Amino acid sequence: MKPILLLVFIVAVVSTAQAQTRTMAVTIDDLPYVRMSDGEYLPSAQTATAKILKTLKKHKVPAVGFVNERQLEFGNQREARIDLLRDWVKSGMLLGNHTWSHPDFNQRTVAQFQEEIEKGDVVTRQLMQSRRPYQLYFRHPMTHTGDTLEKKEAIEKFLAARGYKVTPHTIENSDYIFNVPYAHAMQKGDTALMKRVRDAYLEFTSATIDFAEKISPQIFNRDIPQLFLIHANDLNADCLDEILQRLTDRGYKFVTLDKVMADPVYATKDTYVNKYGPTWLFRWSKSKGQELDFSGEPDPPKWVMDLYNSR
Ligand SMILES: [Zn+2]
Repeated sequence: MKPILLLVFIVAVVSTAQAQTRTMAVTIDDLPYVRMSDGEYLPSAQTATAKILKTLKKHKVPAVGFVNERQLEFGNQREARIDLLRDWVKSGMLLGNHTWSHPDFNQRTVAQFQEEIEKGDVVTRQLMQSRRPYQLYFRHPMTHTGDTLEKKEAIEKFLAARGYKVTPHTIENSDYIFNVPYAHAMQKGDTALMKRVRDAYLEFTSATIDFAEKISPQIFNRDIPQLFLIHANDLNADCLDEILQRLTDRGYKFVTLDKVMADPVYATKDTYVNKYGPTWLFRWSKSKGQELDFSGEPDPPKWVMDLYNSR
């Protein structure tokens, strides 16, 4: 082989190897199920849960599901709703605490929020008994981590004392917005609108991943393991297979949340206080005193926002 050809060969092998080393953990919020349509809860929740778990297993994704246990408290459906969570555990997934009723921390005192955390994983811990010891994870609803420094630090201390790690995210794809027109179209049997929303959602998801891949090395001078946040809803029941396939095609390998959190990047302290729920890429960048340009972070298309806002 001529030296120049050898060089081309080496470069090709190295760049392929780099593409293959991308890693990601997948986290799924608002378990057991985000209800959108007016239909009965259980049949829809059972269908969505089965589809999501089948897809996760197909793509060998060790996901973490974040539970709101208030959803379980529904008269004679309690056991059937707990069965949905049992299916997650049986499928090898981990369950985490997302508070009991999904309150907005901005609207709650520290004491009220602590109560929500304590009530948040009573059933979950019983279901996860066979998996002990395992890392406890907490995710703030709407990723609102505290609108004042005092509140933020008080809850962080409370969580750490109870063995929880706060779960960040580096990519979210506004699935809760797309899910509104999708679920309504589904209920009406409007397959044309379902397809239109699905196509826009997949395109938007790719754009959010592009952005995370572009901005991460600007913050940390290297690629980082990504942490994806989506919800247990009808949209993902139908689209997750395609999303995970596209991620695989981009060179992602799906790993546990423990593995992603073990990367030193995830030890970066988030000191950014705000009332919104931005990604940790934004928070870490701010915490490091950087002034990076996040204006390229994509927004969902206007027509989707309009349908969401007119719900
Ligand atoms: Zn949530």
